[in-house]
Amino acid sequence: MTTSGPTSALQASAADSSTDDLTPAWRAAGLRYYAYNYSLRQRFGQRIHKVSVDAGFTCPNVDGTVATGGCTFCDNRSFSPSRRLPRQNIAGQIDEGIRRIQLRYTAKRFLAYFQPATNTYAAVERLRPLYEQALAHPLVVGMAVGTRSDCVGDDVLDLLGEIAQHTYLSVEYGMQTMHDRSLDWMNRGHRHDAMIDAMQRSRGRGFEVCAHLILGLPGESHDDMLASAQEAVRLGVDAVKIHNLYAVKNTPLADQVAAGEVELIERDDYVRTLVDVLERLPPTCVVERVSGDAPPDYFVGPSWCLDKPAVLRAIESEFARRDSWQGAKAAVGLRNTELAVQKSKCQTGSRS
Ligand code: SF4
Repeated sequence: MTTSGPTSALQASAADSSTDDLTPAWRAAGLRYYAYNYSLRQRFGQRIHKVSVDAGFTCPNVDGTVATGGCTFCDNRSFSPSRRLPRQNIAGQIDEGIRRIQLRYTAKRFLAYFQPATNTYAAVERLRPLYEQALAHPLVVGMAVGTRSDCVGDDVLDLLGEIAQHTYLSVEYGMQTMHDRSLDWMNRGHRHDAMIDAMQRSRGRGFEVCAHLILGLPGESHDDMLASAQEAVRLGVDAVKIHNLYAVKNTPLADQVAAGEVELIERDDYVRTLVDVLERLPPTCVVERVSGDAPPDYFVGPSWCLDKPAVLRAIESEFARRDSWQGAKAAVGLRNTELAVQKSKCQTGSRS
């Protein structure tokens, strides 16, 4: 099997465990898409949980380097358990995170997830000991690092590639969308060409790349959303995390929603669009997330997000109604993406 992603390890794993040339193992297991939990169980032979770690980073669109205020929807405390707690050292955070997880699950092995803010936004001399502390924990079997595509210099990628030689590593880029007008709207402080550049320099370094994508950004059409997902595929990501645009308190987005300036996507529209996206992803692309939520204390809307089991049931039901699955329309999606990328280049002057 040939792959074009930054690493083909995970994709190869999916292919190796296929029951035949046409049916991926996850489909044979009764899944509609290649779910992250399933892929981790394949890799590690047991259920794996992520433990959120807060290394105290900020973001270049928060500290004034490229902008101030952060992304318009972002309050880090709302999406990362570690940032809602007093900060301890890395080992202490992992111990506490494991203790909390084990209150609910019989989990035995964990991924250290450097989650809040931009977790490569420092010199390698500072990053290396932080990552090494996490990986030194006896119950940690790998690492995930959330970051921005404009914060991965070659020396940082060298470090990540070095780590990936001896442990599982997923690098999560907050791509969000391929459309520059949307990146501008969210005060991202970089454009899509940064993602293209980061992906070109990430390929072949041994770690997996996961792209975060948001559906329901203001002004984006259904085709715009499909194009972003297919652009992530074209760039060679190994995995995606997808959620709808939702608002949390104390953010510009919450104000915009309250003022009626931004309308948040309805559940049925989201579910249909998500399934359209998943149908166009290749069956080897891991789907790490299909919904978004935040603690009720922080949450503004849309309220349907808070009932995650109902969202997951609706997604399953839509797949069942179509008698469909991830990858069912992958070739069609790729053709459309090539057209969309060409169109986007014309509109934005993207340099790649
Ligand atoms: S880059 Fe990520 S963490 Fe930083 S402000 Fe934007 S969404 Fe929040």
